[in-house]
Amino acid sequence: RVVVVGSINMDLVTETDTFPRLGETLFGKRFAQYPGGKGANQAVAAARLGAEVTMIGCVGADAFGDAMKAMLVNEGVDTRWVSTGREATGIAAITLSAGDNAIVVVPGANHELSPADVDRAEQAFHDADVVLAQLEVPLATVRHAARVAHAYGKPFFLNPAPAVALPDELLELTTLLTPNEHELATALQTHGADWKAVLQRMPGRIAMTHGKDGAYYTTDDGDLQHQPGFAVQAVDTTGAGDTFNGALAAFWHLGVAEAMRRANAAGALSVTRAGAQGGMPTLSELERFLTN
Ligand code: ADP
Repeated sequence: RVVVVGSINMDLVTETDTFPRLGETLFGKRFAQYPGGKGANQAVAAARLGAEVTMIGCVGADAFGDAMKAMLVNEGVDTRWVSTGREATGIAAITLSAGDNAIVVVPGANHELSPADVDRAEQAFHDADVVLAQLEVPLATVRHAARVAHAYGKPFFLNPAPAVALPDELLELTTLLTPNEHELATALQTHGADWKAVLQRMPGRIAMTHGKDGAYYTTDDGDLQHQPGFAVQAVDTTGAGDTFNGALAAFWHLGVAEAMRRANAAGALSVTRAGAQGGMPTLSELERFLTN
């Protein structure tokens, strides 16, 4: 069982020939909406891979909130602890043009997720095998979730994205930190230092993703190990990190080496297909990939 404490967004994507200038109105070529938010993405990734997943989050009393909850339910995620805030459901307004993008994120209801919401979901922590959080909801809420996980003796995974310098207390309460290379430097404030040296002297456990190179992780003996990436034809790398995190939580009970191997495989599979959630594999797709 995986408990995800995190964001729920609707991604609104427009494609245009050129970006609009200040004060300009232009016709776009296409519009689509996709479920997103790192929390919801990681919850879906874990659920597709067979985990029982409970989401703790906050949406607005609006159509996007209803759609996101319905999507999560459809993926088999328990939404009992998704609360309804006063603000609008979080959105990302994404404009794509000629291979570039311009993005405005409005966190909205995500920023209303409070420590009290975490306390209300105490039963979920009690039942959890792993608690997984990111940084698209308030830091105070993430820290509280880490404390509650700690109180229940449950592993707390923190994907420090989008990256901020992490307070010492949160780092100490984190069982496994899962940054990419850039997030590592910001989370630990080690800009300019060699990331391999930073990993070597990490006090806690780490699983650092590194794109097609795979990932680096701390073994049970405290050593640093490289899990090479799987060679695939990359089509769209959005959601690779979210897939990796969801998979790592879903497979943690298999031991760190096997969980890492499977998370790497899930991340690789996710980049072979378009979209964040669109690329996330099911358990049978993953197993087929691993036996081929
Ligand atoms: P993020 O999207 O957060 O920057 P990464 O790009 O490091 O995360 O990707 C997360 C994981 O997804 C990697 O550790 C790896 O397992 C897998 N992955 C990402 N890109 C590729 C790729 N091009 N080929 C194979 N695996 C990939």
